Amino acid sequence: MPDSISQNLKRIRKRISQACKRAGRNPESVQIILATKTVNPARILKAKEYGYNIAGENRVQEAEEKIEKMGSRAEELTWHFIGHLQSNKVNKVVRFASMIQSIDRMKIVRKLNRRLTKVDKTMDTLIQVNTSGEDSKYGVAPNEAIDFVKKASEYDRLNIQGLMTIGLFSDNWPKVRAGFRQLRNLRNTIAAEQINNVSMQHLSMGMTNDFELAIEEGATMIRLGRAVFGERGTPDSYYWPGIDMPAFKSE
Ligand SMILES: *Cc1c(COP(=O)(O)O)cnc(C)c1O
Repeated sequence: MPDSISQNLKRIRKRISQACKRAGRNPESVQIILATKTVNPARILKAKEYGYNIAGENRVQEAEEKIEKMGSRAEELTWHFIGHLQSNKVNKVVRFASMIQSIDRMKIVRKLNRRLTKVDKTMDTLIQVNTSGEDSKYGVAPNEAIDFVKKASEYDRLNIQGLMTIGLFSDNWPKVRAGFRQLRNLRNTIAAEQINNVSMQHLSMGMTNDFELAIEEGATMIRLGRAVFGERGTPDSYYWPGIDMPAFKSE
């Protein structure tokens, strides 16, 4: 039986390399983060067989359950946290995540730094920026991002390595692209500030619908769910409360 995850990944690789060609980039400069919400451990491990070993999870509890189920095999993967982080989940996320891509408020920065100090760890992080301007999307406002990074950089257990955005959900491609370009420009502006403890090497942007645009605009990490694993059975409004999505029909 054909294995659709491997076929999907093959198609994705081709599209990545074409987008890189258009942009004059090396395909190896683009990392795929598997967006694994709703995806069971067996399917995540399937993608891992083909060399994709970074799993991005949106919810702490869902991640913990999968990691528990996988047992020692969970260690074959690197776990990123890409969802909205509640402050009462900080201690738990520190246990399994090697990167948190969704830092969006100082309260989380302070709590995280306190916890990391206590357990004597550091954490790679990205600052989430709300480039689409929609209230339903989390993230620091673009015009506050520089100040935010400066403030957060004073908490030395966090290695700030770049920016992340969930772009505009739209098929108005020029608008979607403009959001990605805004994130790249912001990254360049912040990098030019040469803030201590901040590297700005990563731009995490682009999902199933728009990853090629994101690559053309400089994404170093694209977060792919449906392109790899197919459609999800759970509505995304469960993961992104308040987002304007068609209602999930159950019988
Ligand atoms: C679900 C999700 C993705 C991937 O979405 P797809 O459209 O399925 O590729 C990327 N980033 C975040 C934060 C997500 O929650």
